[in-house]
Amino acid sequence: MILYNSLGQTKQEFVPYTSGKVNMYTCGPTVYHYAHIGNLRTYIMEDVLEKYLRFSGYDVNRVMNITDVGHLSSDADTGEDKMLSGAKREHKTVLEIARFYTDAFFADCEKLNIKRPDVVEPATNCIDEFINMITVLIDKGYAYIAGGNVYFDTSKLETYYVFGNMNEEDLAVGVRDSVEEDENKRNKTDFVLWFTKSKFDSQELKWESPWGLGYPGWHIECSCISNKHNGEYLDIHCGGIDNAFPHHTNEIAQSEAFLGHKWCKYWFHVLHLNDARGKMSKSKGDFLTVSLLESKGYDPLVYRMFCLQSHYRKPLTFSYESLDNTAKAYEKLVKRVAALDGEGEVESAKAEELIASFKEALDNDLNTSLGLTCVYDVLKADCSDATKLYVIGELDKVLSLDLVEAAKKASEPQADNELVKAIEALIAQRTEARANKDWAAADAIRDKLTAMNVAVKDSKDGISWEFIK
Ligand code: AMP
Ligand code: ZN
Repeated sequence: MILYNSLGQTKQEFVPYTSGKVNMYTCGPTVYHYAHIGNLRTYIMEDVLEKYLRFSGYDVNRVMNITDVGHLSSDADTGEDKMLSGAKREHKTVLEIARFYTDAFFADCEKLNIKRPDVVEPATNCIDEFINMITVLIDKGYAYIAGGNVYFDTSKLETYYVFGNMNEEDLAVGVRDSVEEDENKRNKTDFVLWFTKSKFDSQELKWESPWGLGYPGWHIECSCISNKHNGEYLDIHCGGIDNAFPHHTNEIAQSEAFLGHKWCKYWFHVLHLNDARGKMSKSKGDFLTVSLLESKGYDPLVYRMFCLQSHYRKPLTFSYESLDNTAKAYEKLVKRVAALDGEGEVESAKAEELIASFKEALDNDLNTSLGLTCVYDVLKADCSDATKLYVIGELDKVLSLDLVEAAKKASEPQADNELVKAIEALIAQRTEARANKDWAAADAIRDKLTAMNVAVKDSKDGISWEFIK
């Protein structure tokens, strides 16, 4: 497989440290708010990468952190902890916020057919590991204490690696803030490993450490959590492009200083989802979520397909008009799959040939739009319907658009499809209203559903509905 590696900025043959085995790390969400569909673009493309590596026969161990402490409102170690601002916004504790938005994140992932990583570790579980890594960095002379905080000394490195593929705007975030702030830093690019002092004294969660009561910086968590679950050699590290600097740069600095050897071989960065106002971001407050798309009647898998239609290394602009086009394309595609009658034998040579074209597309730096085109090629191919259904099922192990399942559902005699869609849209609106604590709206929607002869059941396993008999 050929992958673009941000480390070196070239397309390279993917060769893991150990043949047949891939250690993969993903920066997880900062759980102070819902994930927006921009965040989820990144997780969808990482999911495709993971599934394609498995499809290609690799044994993958994928690790993800949950950022529930230490990510400040500026990536350059200044401002308030994002978790604290979330807690204040909702008059809850940081832990309550963390639990709620972690669950919400995985619920969104499930709707988008994003597989849960093998290991998911919240940062607050790993305080001892952070303290240990920071202690080693101090002992090795890579870190210093100033003004009560522990800083990483970037001047001690042979090279402070900055991914060169960033535009001015990406770099400006870190540079602007670090010039402005923190006189304790010996070098502009130094960063905090452990805070005991910050302008924001109201930090809710603090832990004892050799440097005083405090909390970890954001970057240390990913270095530690990856080291804990992937070991000393990481094959591939993923994240959105905004994380490339300073976060990933600082992860490399810490990990390689700590380990004393090269750490991660390949860096996979997904470009941003933008809307008419520019980059979608949680801190802007007003952003698009999966539930919002559902409440407007979109199947979350339509959004997944929308992401697959473009290359992960190109910025993607969201508009409802484009999403409508994808929704039409998805519906048509499912209908065409539903029209296959499954007759005949699976012709294995033909199946292999069709799968090989798909692999060729994905082997070329994960070209998912070409991968989707392969599904249409299968539909047009000169072979039995059984072969087509088999191959589409195989390709869908990576694409995860539920093509065969959706086709089965579409061809079952069932309650009026439009009615089902309307009911599900109302249920999604009710969920959104409840999340916003708009009980009046939630009750009004329930009444509407009752009038439609629909009973909604809420349980710890989720929401289900049935027609009242
Ligand atoms: P956060 O929850 O802010 O820590 O971000 C979670 C993931 O989403 C990270 O990998 C970010 O780089 C990524 N991300 C943030 N904004 C966007 C965006 N607009 N488009 C794509 N990915 C994004
Ligand atoms: Zn990270």
